[in-house]
Amino acid sequence: MSLLVVGTVAFDAIETPFGKTDKIVGGAASYIGLAASYFLRDIQLVSVIGDDFPEAFLNTLKSQGVGLEGLQIKKGEKSFFWSGKYHNDLNSRDTLETQLNVLEHFDPVVPASAKESDFLMLGNLAPMVQQKVINQLTKRPKLIVLDTMNFWMDIAMDDLMKTIAMIDVLTINDSEARQLSGEYSLVKAAQKILKMGPKVLVIKKGEHGALLFNKEEVFFAPALPLEEVYDPTGAGDSFAGGFIGYLAKTKDISFDNMKRAIIFGSAMASFTVEKFGTERLIGLSQEDVDDRVQEFVDLVQFDISLV
Ligand code: AMP
Repeated sequence: MSLLVVGTVAFDAIETPFGKTDKIVGGAASYIGLAASYFLRDIQLVSVIGDDFPEAFLNTLKSQGVGLEGLQIKKGEKSFFWSGKYHNDLNSRDTLETQLNVLEHFDPVVPASAKESDFLMLGNLAPMVQQKVINQLTKRPKLIVLDTMNFWMDIAMDDLMKTIAMIDVLTINDSEARQLSGEYSLVKAAQKILKMGPKVLVIKKGEHGALLFNKEEVFFAPALPLEEVYDPTGAGDSFAGGFIGYLAKTKDISFDNMKRAIIFGSAMASFTVEKFGTERLIGLSQEDVDDRVQEFVDLVQFDISLV
């Protein structure tokens, strides 16, 4: 199976109660690509950076099996930059600054080799750019997953609604689900959002896990209670990478398999938050991933017999 990933490859400056970073490598597509690379190797990335971006990180992506044919490098321009500050509970954050830079006029070009990708992960980006990528594909992927954020709901809601109507699975956090639907109850929010186009909705609740909805069912995956949580940046993207990576690896897009996939997604997110930036997602072994997934299984397994 092949996977096409679209999203930002960026610089972030992050402040959490545990420390502060200068510009470090981040971006939705970086996290998604790295997380997915533990499930399959046939991955292509479509994004844009300036000529200020460290070559070493691009080599890391390549060595993890993430193809960069679709990565545009703009001479004399600056990469996308985002900075954020987390509140004490680490579940909420304020965006301090968003510099679109190269993203402002980004015209994505899907390489010929990726136009028939089996799976498409549309990471957080301008909804029109996400839509342009779908429109360049010559075959409809088996599954299109889209992640977005409040930033795009604030400035490009109409475009977002059009893009959401074209996809299969939407992943957003709880406050974004409330903003998109105008409903406080997440159950009501899910019902409304599922009428906008997607067949499946994932609502991420940070350290409180994630909910998976289709029109008939709801399933819950916890987040692992971790001893060390330093930086939640990229948790949502790592979740998405693990989720779609597992579905692509198992070639099964049933709702039952998605229940398993959100556990794998949660496992990848749990690694990401243990260090600042993308560091923890680099160089994991298969055993690390398996052990982490087993911890999730142990966390929620219990026997109840109802007589
Ligand atoms: P997450 O914590 O999973 O929501 O994703 C964090 C990543 O999203 C960071 O590495 C940022 O570079 C990237 N990001 C932040 N704001 C935006 C935006 N408006 N569009 C695209 N990517 C963004």
